[in-house]
Amino acid sequence: MNKTVISVVVPVYNEEAVIHESYSRLKVVLERLSEPYELIFVNDGSRDATPLIIRSICESDTNVRLIDFARNFGHQTAITAGMDYALGDAVIVIDADLQDPPEVIPELIAKWREGFDVVYGQRAKRKGETLFKRFTSAAFYRVLQKLTDVDIPVDTGDFRLIDRKVCDALKQVKERNRYVRGIISWLGFRQTGVEFDREKRFAGETKYPLKKMLRFAFDAITSFSYKPLKLATYVGVTVSLGGFAYLLFVLYLKLFTDSTVTGWASMMAVNLFFNGVVLMMLGIIGEYIGRIYDEAKGRPLYVVREELNFNRETRAKPAVVQKNGVKRYPLAA
Ligand code: UDP
Ligand code: MG
Repeated sequence: MNKTVISVVVPVYNEEAVIHESYSRLKVVLERLSEPYELIFVNDGSRDATPLIIRSICESDTNVRLIDFARNFGHQTAITAGMDYALGDAVIVIDADLQDPPEVIPELIAKWREGFDVVYGQRAKRKGETLFKRFTSAAFYRVLQKLTDVDIPVDTGDFRLIDRKVCDALKQVKERNRYVRGIISWLGFRQTGVEFDREKRFAGETKYPLKKMLRFAFDAITSFSYKPLKLATYVGVTVSLGGFAYLLFVLYLKLFTDSTVTGWASMMAVNLFFNGVVLMMLGIIGEYIGRIYDEAKGRPLYVVREELNFNRETRAKPAVVQKNGVKRYPLAA
């Protein structure tokens, strides 16, 4: 039997403090598999020594590859690029900061061998993350689940293994502003989870400040739900009905009693409140329109400045389909 090939994709952005450690821990785990593997670092426009460090690792270790982005395109895009380049029968995505322990990889592979096409890591505990991060992220996954029809498992990150079939299917999904784990759920296939404890970041700061987190959340929601757009309808109908009832009340007071409703302050309050609601709705629509505009422009998802240790000839070769229907991809030399 031909040995299977495992690809590991690691997106990195300003990770000079952790790269050596994650490389050596991943290396130990991958060597133990005694199967061919490739370790693909996707440098997402780091401004520190990250690409230099990876470049020197590439020189001494031909199993390590580098995709160097021309600028910062974002975490989800970096993952996508890694999957585009990966040649393995199974592709594993893991964060560089060792929050996802590499030692869980053999468990993912074991599940894959049992016949699952997607094996995601499910966070049982989260260590060393701020209360704020844990709260917002728990809330986010639950709101997202309420809003979407796609069954996206809660508390799972991008740490997962996907089969070659899934990777190929994913390549057909061209959308920008991607929420990769959502798209993988949307694809279907046989999926399962493996629980693990999320570790503390090995070193350095999170590369997801609040601004990026919000953008990420909006990408996820707009990619998988129209419900925020419907909100305008519901709020609109409720407010109009309420307004109409109040109008009748005001008319009643004027026509049948001696008192009338007065007050500049109450007028202003109601006015400002509902103008706020209207603007918020416009903003929600804007979020969708902005994303439609991104799609319409049709720009490439990412631009690569340099790639290292990829063998273009092998990459260009089509997969060899075996008798049992399994595709084999030749590994780069
Ligand atoms: N990352 C990236 N591009 C970015 C932000 C982050 O490639 O614009 C990478 C980062 O180097 C790390 C992974 O994405 O390997 C997850 O980021 P981080 O650990 O900072 O996020 P957190 O775990 O705090 O949510
Ligand atoms: Mg992290």
